[in-house]
Amino acid sequence: MEQFVASNLGFPRIGENREWKKTLEAYWANKMDEATLEQEMKSLRLDQLKQQQERGISLIPVNTFTLYDQMLDTSTMFGLIPERFGYEGGPVTLNTYFAMARGSKDAVACEMTKWFNMNYHYIVPELGQLKPVLTINRPLIAYQEAKSELGIATKPVLIGPYTYVKLSKGYPKEQLSEWVHTLLLLYQTIVAELQAEGVSWVQIDEPSLTGDVTAEEIALVRECYEQLHQSAPELNIMLQTYFDSVEYYSELIHLPVQGIGLDFVHGLERNLQALEQGSFPTDKALGVGIIDGRNIWRSNLQTKLQLLQRIQAAAPDSTLIIQPSCSLMHVPVSTEREVKLEPLLKQNLAFAYEKLEEIQLLTRILQNNDSTAMDTFSQIRHSSEITEQLNFSSARRDAESEQSLLQRYKISRTTPFATRYQLQQEQFKLPLLPTTTIGSFPQTAEVRKARQLWRKGEWTDTQYTEFIQDQIREWITIQEDIGLDVLVHGEFERTDMVEYFGEKLAGFAFTTNGWVQSYGSRCVKPPIIYGNVAFQSPMTVQETLFAQSLTKKPVKGMLTGPVTILNWSFVRDDIPRKDVTMQIAAALAEEVKALEEAGILMIQVDEPALREGLPLKKRDWDNYLEWAVRAFLLSTSNVQDTTQIHTHMCYCEFHDMIDAIKALDADVISIESSRSNADIIEAFESNVYDKGIGLGVYDIHSPRVPRMDELDGMINRALRVLPSELFWINPDCGLKTRGMKETCEALIIMVQSANNARQRLLK
Ligand code: GLN
Ligand code: ZN
Repeated sequence: MEQFVASNLGFPRIGENREWKKTLEAYWANKMDEATLEQEMKSLRLDQLKQQQERGISLIPVNTFTLYDQMLDTSTMFGLIPERFGYEGGPVTLNTYFAMARGSKDAVACEMTKWFNMNYHYIVPELGQLKPVLTINRPLIAYQEAKSELGIATKPVLIGPYTYVKLSKGYPKEQLSEWVHTLLLLYQTIVAELQAEGVSWVQIDEPSLTGDVTAEEIALVRECYEQLHQSAPELNIMLQTYFDSVEYYSELIHLPVQGIGLDFVHGLERNLQALEQGSFPTDKALGVGIIDGRNIWRSNLQTKLQLLQRIQAAAPDSTLIIQPSCSLMHVPVSTEREVKLEPLLKQNLAFAYEKLEEIQLLTRILQNNDSTAMDTFSQIRHSSEITEQLNFSSARRDAESEQSLLQRYKISRTTPFATRYQLQQEQFKLPLLPTTTIGSFPQTAEVRKARQLWRKGEWTDTQYTEFIQDQIREWITIQEDIGLDVLVHGEFERTDMVEYFGEKLAGFAFTTNGWVQSYGSRCVKPPIIYGNVAFQSPMTVQETLFAQSLTKKPVKGMLTGPVTILNWSFVRDDIPRKDVTMQIAAALAEEVKALEEAGILMIQVDEPALREGLPLKKRDWDNYLEWAVRAFLLSTSNVQDTTQIHTHMCYCEFHDMIDAIKALDADVISIESSRSNADIIEAFESNVYDKGIGLGVYDIHSPRVPRMDELDGMINRALRVLPSELFWINPDCGLKTRGMKETCEALIIMVQSANNARQRLLK
């Protein structure tokens, strides 16, 4: 093998113009038959391989293309199909496959959850009592297809046994090893068949090795890879990790595999330290994840070359495989269509295609041991020039440090909650168990249509504003009629809770075609935070104030929190993420002030993405939570004692971060809970929460209207562990996705149920 090889780990499947999504959705809508679907998908798949080949990649991954999700592909490959889908063995049909992903009329879909700390969601395998069998050797078929159709000898990719079982549910933790062993037999068959086919490299992804790993688990991993190697001694196995540094580095590098892939972007410091301290085995290849697969910035190739030289010095006799830090599926496909962006910004972007070009160039320079050849020299110089130009541009220069921000903003409310509570009670005179909602009301087709017309210029600003005001007026009346205590304006002017603020703050840019897959066919277009974030003018005052002018009841202002804005954007990487978050927080503090000055005295700052930003290793949690909490406090502490700060989070697994939640010092927190009811209430038995709290009392994810006795039960149970003076009654978040009729019906019942509970308490 050559000493330097260009490789890739995975590629966006969605296509340059989201053809993948459109094809899938046409099929789901019965506008396309199965044969056409297969044909279209095949041509996309092959095209993606060609694109990688044209960009000089030698180790092109296959079996990363999917019709929905790779974890789901792995489950169906192993016949691990929950009983409710009525699977009877043999090849898994497309119907069954999509039923698992999306539900069918007879069976609810499998659960979906976040892929590590990414905004991608995978389908969670349910192991239960199932007996795995190999229904198909997917990586082999993918390899054969590329070979016969394009003559390319590719690198099949598999999700490794350890990671697959770690990410599954439906088995007791003690059975981890048992399950891994059971599945290992099937993996052995797969690799043996790959070897027989003449495959050179297989990539086995074990990202779970970058999280918290126990000593028993690492022993289990050792056994796995020993056996896999025995089953296919001629096959080169690349044990691939990503998203952070590996745990148990010295054990891993001595496994009987032929390559170890490390992330030198997101796990840079610790991986490099481990590499430089130990001696990397000369008989192994080192997969050098050098180009950021999670972010969209062009690399300064000068800096990357220096890093590569350091890595090479630490593993001088090993083959270096130059690759992205993780699969490129987490970045958009091509920057070509971004014609609306400022040229300097556009030049500084690298999506999947451009990242592969960077890999190709770096590999070529290493191969020729020459960075001075005219063409490469000028490319390297260009990359460092433009990255520096952006770094020194007025948008980025003089980023205000946290220290300086802290001279202008408080990060503590000074007055303790108990005093604030009294003052706020006197001001708002709310009844016991106040009722409210989480912010949005149904975004009907009419609302979306109006926004489109306005964006296209067919509607004037006035027309659009009036339309939004009509919506607000209608919903204020509805809320008053239903008898809610704290009202909201309904968020009709927002498509998305991050984009809306990004468009109004300095430092953000928006792409035309920068889509990435979030789950299934759902793609998102994250904003880009490229410069210093700053407040420009009030963002929510007009709508909130309009709503308040229509009612005597308090209207709660609605903002998206700093950590959520950060976590759902592509973020500049020339300064620490923490510093960017503080800038966002300061901008939000200005918005909070503007609302307060306008007389809005209840303000909710949503942080649904706070939890998903948690680092993969528990020992890194405190550091993250510390600055995340500080950012929230910076946005919300610069107010009068009488201003009531609310926050909202869409999850309830927070027993492991309850101290951080308490430290937010919000006057009221609302959390999602109806889908986990008993669990969350138990959590409060062992944890005292002594500020205002609302538990979502009904699930809004289904159009079904809850029954009064269900709500009564939920509220009673909560009141057993939470003091009634602090308890609020609200639904879960997401009313934006529901219809008007079911929303009103459910809220009427919720208010009645709150009344019932008040009666019982006052007796
Ligand atoms: N205020 C937002 C809403 O009600 C909160 C959304 C969320 O928590 N994801 O839609
Ligand atoms: Zn939520």
